[in-house]
Amino acid sequence: VFIAFEGGEGAGKTTQARLAAIWLRDHGFEVVTTREPGATKTGMRLRALLLDRETTGLSDRAETLLYAADRADHVANVIRPAMERGAIVVSDRYIDSSLAYQGFGRQQRVDDIARLNAWATAGLVPDLTVLLELPPEDGLNRITSPADRIESEPQAFHERVLSGFRALAEAEPDRYLVIDASLSQAEISRQIQDRIRAILPD
Ligand code: C5P
Ligand code: MG
Repeated sequence: VFIAFEGGEGAGKTTQARLAAIWLRDHGFEVVTTREPGATKTGMRLRALLLDRETTGLSDRAETLLYAADRADHVANVIRPAMERGAIVVSDRYIDSSLAYQGFGRQQRVDDIARLNAWATAGLVPDLTVLLELPPEDGLNRITSPADRIESEPQAFHERVLSGFRALAEAEPDRYLVIDASLSQAEISRQIQDRIRAILPD
């Protein structure tokens, strides 16, 4: 089972991924929590390049390729091996982040990015994608460690990212759980647990 958490800056993906993992472990499952970009040794180097994009003038196409390279390494070295031994994988971001940020946000062709990532991941799609929806200004206000963020983009960029995530969720309602991230942490966890229960092996 593979579960991805998606959403904009400060929506609570990391927190909710952690809470879901704790809950699953309490129910006896082996859980691997992971994140993008930067889950592998190579991924950590790619993450550093990606976070430095403004100082180095990284081009938009190169950025898209580096995210895809990070994801290819993540799938091959972390996600697939964990799934093969029966663990549940919970990832903070996956392909839909590239579609939303590099596609909708940087206005590159979404279908090109989808094809690139389908190749990079050898077609691995999550069983469930949780989208935590929050107005960008609320998310940016919540962020406490700005050094590790690409938060210098204009408001319009983050609006495009959010509407991109919404469009992706609407196109695949069966794979998506969309949650209002302004709800309480406990209420959000409860909604996530209800949905995860439905996809768990017995
Ligand atoms: O999820 P996390 O906050 O660690 O992401 C680090 C930064 O990378 C964020 O600022 C996010 O906006 C950015 N990002 C991106 N494109 C992606 C994934 C993340 O611009 N595909
Ligand atoms: Mg986070």
